[in-house]
Amino acid sequence: MINLKSRLILTYALFVSAALMVVTISINQCTGTLFESLVRETIKERGQEIVRSVADIYNPRINGFDVITMEAIGMHFVHEGYIITVESPEGETLWDARSMDMQHCVAVLNDITSRMEERHQIQGSLQYTAYPLLYQNTTIGTLTIESYGPFFYSEGESRFLSGVNRLLFIAGLVFTVLSVFISTFLAAAIAKPILKASEAAHCIAGGNRNIRVFDGYKTKELQELACSINTLAKELAEGERRQKQLTSDIAHELRTPLTCLQGNVEAMIDGIWEPTTERLMSCHEEITRLSRLVQDINLLTNLEWEHLTLHKTSFDLAKLLQLVGEQFQSPAYEKGLAIILRLTPSLIVADYDRLKQVFINLLANGIKYTDAGAVTITILPIPLGWEVGIADTGAGISERDLPHIFERFYRSDKSRNRGTGGAGIGLTIAQAIVTAHGGTISVTSEPGSGSVFRVALAAEG
Ligand code: ADP
Repeated sequence: MINLKSRLILTYALFVSAALMVVTISINQCTGTLFESLVRETIKERGQEIVRSVADIYNPRINGFDVITMEAIGMHFVHEGYIITVESPEGETLWDARSMDMQHCVAVLNDITSRMEERHQIQGSLQYTAYPLLYQNTTIGTLTIESYGPFFYSEGESRFLSGVNRLLFIAGLVFTVLSVFISTFLAAAIAKPILKASEAAHCIAGGNRNIRVFDGYKTKELQELACSINTLAKELAEGERRQKQLTSDIAHELRTPLTCLQGNVEAMIDGIWEPTTERLMSCHEEITRLSRLVQDINLLTNLEWEHLTLHKTSFDLAKLLQLVGEQFQSPAYEKGLAIILRLTPSLIVADYDRLKQVFINLLANGIKYTDAGAVTITILPIPLGWEVGIADTGAGISERDLPHIFERFYRSDKSRNRGTGGAGIGLTIAQAIVTAHGGTISVTSEPGSGSVFRVALAAEG
């Protein structure tokens, strides 16, 4: 399988080379065509110039051309690739370059032919163009120019064109080599972080949750990839920590009551204690408490691992709170407490049973930690929802404990809670359920005066 770096280098280099080739060929074609039309124009002008030069040396007095000047002009143009013949109006040859120096004429034409055919791959042939020679509007003869056609490059023009082509070829080559270097650099810049992320993912899969990758890349996607890997490692580490913590918390919570139970039962088996109904009932109570604790732990585990599926329905929050309040009338009465309900109809879309659990936990705490006075339940409208307040006139919560009471298994007063049977899970469960609904739960408390728990929920769920 080809690796990412090689693939990137290959793709980039191929693309750049192809693009350069297209650009080079286009420039070459364009330059060639433009230069050709320029040369054709020059040849045409050169023809006119030759005609003018020859006509200029006409001498009316001798009704002919000055032969010496004619020879100078003619041989000059032969040198440039134009073989000229001058004829009288009657068709008599007055001057002919070939007759003057056949060898030179053939050498010049051969030179041009090989230059055009070999250097420029242009096949042509000798062409003859006849021009009338005029003196004061009277025909004084005919000038025939023999040259390589349809056009030809002079030595200078040919060298210029070859030079341009060579330059384009070198530029193409240099840019191709450069593109390979740049693509290697770019590919490494992209592939390296991906490789590092992949290595880190392997390490994480292998159990190393402490590994972190550099996440300060300037490329958005690479930075997101690095951040995702780091978050994954952190989340897994946090998950493992939570799992370990839960296991040790549960073990800790179960150890004391189980030891106590074991001691009691052993004492009865050994005959140290009489297995009276009261003692058996006490053991039964402890077993009931333990099984409730296990149920709570199970519920909490589900909530914390987000296995909680909410079955939302539309219902009146006031009616739910009324029902919960009524359930607690009897325990409240036993403690001499009043339950005051200040409720207004308040429709909500939420999981009825889960919210009932929240208010049961909060009201149970209110009654549990209040010795005199009342627990008041209120509903207040807030933007887009409702806020349920559960206020008691109990012992309150100290400033030291307040930030921790929603933590799992946290109790502000352990010995007292042992007496009340609380395991420190009730508020954790309540918070998990409210959070799953997208709501918030908060508390304010004044030690000695009481506490107020507030649950804010969106009406539309
Ligand atoms: P528990 O089952 O022990 O009551 P919770 O999670 O419900 O566990 O509460 C955690 C702790 O917060 C309790 O141990 C208690 O100290 C404190 N707490 C909760 N509600 C009240 C309240 N209404 N008044 C005073 N203290 C409270």
